[in-house]
Amino acid sequence: MVRPIYLDNHATTPVDPRVAAIVLRFFLEDFGNAGSADHIIGDHADAALSVARNHVAALLGSLPDDVIFTSGATESISLALQGFVAARLRRTKRPPRIALTAVEHSAVLETVKALTAAGRASSVVLPVDRSARLDLDELARVVRSGVDLLCVMGANNEVGTVYPLVEIGRIAEASGTLFLCDATQAAGKVQLSIDSSAISFTAISAHKMYGPMGVGALIVRDRRDLEPVSWGGQQQHGLRPGTLNVPGIVGLGEACRLRRLEMVADEAAIALFRDQLQYALSSEIDGLIINGAHGERLAGNLHVSIPDVPNGAIIARVRERLAIATGAACASGIEAPSHVLRAMRLPTSIQDGALRIGVGKFNTQAEISEASELLVRAVGDARKAMVA
Ligand code: PLP
Repeated sequence: MVRPIYLDNHATTPVDPRVAAIVLRFFLEDFGNAGSADHIIGDHADAALSVARNHVAALLGSLPDDVIFTSGATESISLALQGFVAARLRRTKRPPRIALTAVEHSAVLETVKALTAAGRASSVVLPVDRSARLDLDELARVVRSGVDLLCVMGANNEVGTVYPLVEIGRIAEASGTLFLCDATQAAGKVQLSIDSSAISFTAISAHKMYGPMGVGALIVRDRRDLEPVSWGGQQQHGLRPGTLNVPGIVGLGEACRLRRLEMVADEAAIALFRDQLQYALSSEIDGLIINGAHGERLAGNLHVSIPDVPNGAIIARVRERLAIATGAACASGIEAPSHVLRAMRLPTSIQDGALRIGVGKFNTQAEISEASELLVRAVGDARKAMVA
């Protein structure tokens, strides 16, 4: 089988071979438990965690001691939201009010929904415009009306819109509101500074930045804002107990180190490929629409709609040769309308014809040209089949 061209880098990224090499070493040779204080194999694992913590902190502009390793962004978000609500309830005896954007990842949306349904929090949803951008005046108005925690993602995982975190952090800080940023898609792609954006909780995941799946981090500025949601060990200040995934964490650290060194050059090259593909598709496919905020998009994001051709008809024609998506990668396999496109109030035909393309650093010029040819042909064939 010829491996399809991979243009679904928002769902996951291939692991950088340099990251894979170091992960393998920690599986096979340096396999100690970081909690084994009685021998140097344990000491070695513990030292590797410190190195990884430094790399994560350096990429994100935080203190190394603020980094809590998790199994990925979903767990980081869950710990932040549940742990924050527990801490607030204990301190103030009233359910905190959470403001969140309508286009957050389901890890945020569903956790807030569950906390609200249980009577442990109340929530207010911030609308977006047709490019998934936020109205910062409206956000400031809502924050000033009394919000305990504001949730705004760093970049959207469907249409790639990037959010102005420094301004948003300033608004939150001015009202004493804590700020949770799901930076899963933004970390390692755009410059982030937890410190200058005054972000209280930051969630990241290694597999979106050329690291392994199943490992991530939550960066917590002030641990007094968080209570544990699981118990049974003293690891990581008791906030995320359990034996640490040393090989995965080392991989996350190495991925962050490489992103810090290479991100600017890589993202510039990725943007050129994306623009080339966008130009080719717009010139060759009548009626093609580019979704999202054109000037404020992730470099690798190209989200398009062909309103007269359902996206399934295109995917069916290319799926063995080209890996692209109709929307966010979903765990259930059940197709549901995208909450992001609905929040953008796009017409149904645009939602039904939507395709998410994610360019990454391992894509080549030849792949971009071939992907464009495959898509143009698939749209032509689908249109012919529809009139036949
Ligand atoms: N948040 C965003 C914006 C995402 O894109 C994803 C993954 O698709 C997640 C959270 C969940 O990340 P993880 O797969 O590490 O649990």
